[in-house]
Amino acid sequence: MHRILPAKYAKITKERTFSMGLSLFFVCLAIFAGTLSSCSKPENKPASNMTAAREAKKEIKELRDSIKKIEPFFKVMSKPGTNDWLASHTETGQTFDEYLDADPTKPTKERQKIYVLPLGAFDAKQQKLIAQTTEYLAAFYDLPVEQMAAKPLVVEPPKGGTPNTRQNQLTKKRQIKTGYILNDVLMPILPKDAAALIAFTADDLYPDESMNYVFGQGSLENRVGVWSLFRLDDHTDERGFLLRTLKIAAHEMGHMFSMKHCTKYECVMSGTNHLGETDSRPIDTCPECMAKICWLSDTKPAERYTRLAEFCRKNGLTKEAEEFTRKAEAVKKI
Ligand SMILES: [Zn+2]
Ligand SMILES: [Zn+2]
Repeated sequence: MHRILPAKYAKITKERTFSMGLSLFFVCLAIFAGTLSSCSKPENKPASNMTAAREAKKEIKELRDSIKKIEPFFKVMSKPGTNDWLASHTETGQTFDEYLDADPTKPTKERQKIYVLPLGAFDAKQQKLIAQTTEYLAAFYDLPVEQMAAKPLVVEPPKGGTPNTRQNQLTKKRQIKTGYILNDVLMPILPKDAAALIAFTADDLYPDESMNYVFGQGSLENRVGVWSLFRLDDHTDERGFLLRTLKIAAHEMGHMFSMKHCTKYECVMSGTNHLGETDSRPIDTCPECMAKICWLSDTKPAERYTRLAEFCRKNGLTKEAEEFTRKAEAVKKI
């Protein structure tokens, strides 16, 4: 069964290539290894594109205005604790203008759909969570998101080299190597029109022998990623499990669209080192990152906030719904 969520295909007008300098990033609770670098600069615009260029300029000005209007809703990044991300990672952040200058990866007319693949076995709670996350991504990025039919996770023996699974020394549970899932499971089924194909698994993951585990890994170049639910559920707090999954999904998808870690505000695009840090972050992006998303998906901030408020209301996230509604009102003010 395929589940297609509505979005405005026709709105995607700005086209870029997906060629990227670097390719792999780990879900950031483990490591974000990404130099999210730029593609080739757009060629000189022909005269017939002058109107479009003027429109784009106007859109960017409006987004800059919206940034100012929602600044009061966000906390400036606080000094990191010893175990927090910024205590061990030197990052400079990325403003909206820096993002535009980097000529980032974004959806094109040919590749604008996000595919979500449930990979392996899931219980009813996890299935519901994946469906909710699929819906959240559609609202968050204003792109068509399709949940693909679930696929069993069959791990083939390696064709030489190191194994594709191992037993984790601490949990004594099986772990699956992320490279196997990306290259051998996802790449062969990557749809032509995919802006990204993201697999969710309930299995624990590891990238290589040097690391105990990762929450996930993505390839910008190949447009595939895998995220694990294994370590997100503490089995005590269903709302917390949902919020963590939504945050990680929104964050990692942001990387797939060349968004770097945020350091200016407490933002869903800020790096996190542990689940406590993830839990402390909002499910929303800061003003600068909001503008990046509205630009890449060619959507209006007020419409986006309204959609996010509806999602939260429907899924019992009352406080978050109210805040999104207030932001929608704020960006509408002249
Ligand atoms: Zn990250
Ligand atoms: Zn941000």
